[in-house]
Amino acid sequence: MTARIIDGKAFAAGLRAKVQEETARLKAEHGIVPGLATVLVGNDPASEVYVRNKGKTAEALGFNSFHFSLPSDTSEVEVLARVQSLNDNKAVHGILVQMPLPKQVRESAVLDQLDPAKDVDALTTVNAGLLVSGRAQLISCTPMGMMMLLKEYVGDITGMNALVIGRSLLFGKPAAQLLLAANATVTMAHSRSRDLPALCRQADILVAAIGKPFFVKGDWVKPGATVIDVGINRVDAGEGKYKIVGDVDYDSAINIAGAVTPVPGGIGATTIVNLMRNTLIAACLQSGLNIPAI
Ligand code: NAP
Repeated sequence: MTARIIDGKAFAAGLRAKVQEETARLKAEHGIVPGLATVLVGNDPASEVYVRNKGKTAEALGFNSFHFSLPSDTSEVEVLARVQSLNDNKAVHGILVQMPLPKQVRESAVLDQLDPAKDVDALTTVNAGLLVSGRAQLISCTPMGMMMLLKEYVGDITGMNALVIGRSLLFGKPAAQLLLAANATVTMAHSRSRDLPALCRQADILVAAIGKPFFVKGDWVKPGATVIDVGINRVDAGEGKYKIVGDVDYDSAINIAGAVTPVPGGIGATTIVNLMRNTLIAACLQSGLNIPAI
């Protein structure tokens, strides 16, 4: 059997069109233009690319886009002041402070400064707590993309065994909460878990968010399982080139899984568009309007 390929890119294109349509409607009916502000401290090349892509996507969807580049030696006090001025700016509905931050700036201090209503990455303790309580309106972008793809490709996951490998605040923990809310039986694994292959073999939904290329082997996958590969790893492709691969040994998993997300073009493709969806949701909530059903 060869697994179905979960086409995150095509799904993201459809979602993007819906966000664009709802953005146009918000402007036409209420005169509101969603505003996304990005803050980059330092000049990490990968972060520069991410932030630039976010700004470009926001503009393409008709948002107002604001960008602030701060030097790598900016003090924590200055970064917090920048965040506070964006909290106070009514034209800004979503704020994204690109991580990682230089070591003199604590991520926890920045997140504590951020207005949870504008926290479109859903990383603040308020939004993490609302997710656990089942009352979240802004949900972490990549886990949200995972749930959308599962809904599209698997449907009802009630009673299924889901294994999430990785327990980050950014992905693993919110992903487990969302799977639990969708009535899966959820197990979380991490670097101290015992016998990971055996845990994997019980999973109807196997989610890998580890950051290690080809870590999950095909013979760990339960036949017919849905495999969600969140990893983004740069590996040498010879001749001074590199390529992006996931955490799952795709070539072996594809012969055993029922469905699998490729890397690239799988789960990662949905992240930026969910950031835009969150900014649109934040703009509606801050204006006292209902959230669009997208
Ligand atoms: P992270 O903070 O990098 O942490 C990695 C997690 O993997 C930790 O929980 C760690 O366990 C676990 N781990 C490490 N080695 C392990 C092992 N040998 N066995 C089992 N678990 C192990 O996690 P992250 O930020 O979620 O990132 C994970 C990967 O997903 C990265 O490749 C990242 O680039 C990618 N990612 C992609 C997107 C996207 O598509 N847009 C978004 C988020 C993340 P401990 O907690 O015990 O250390």
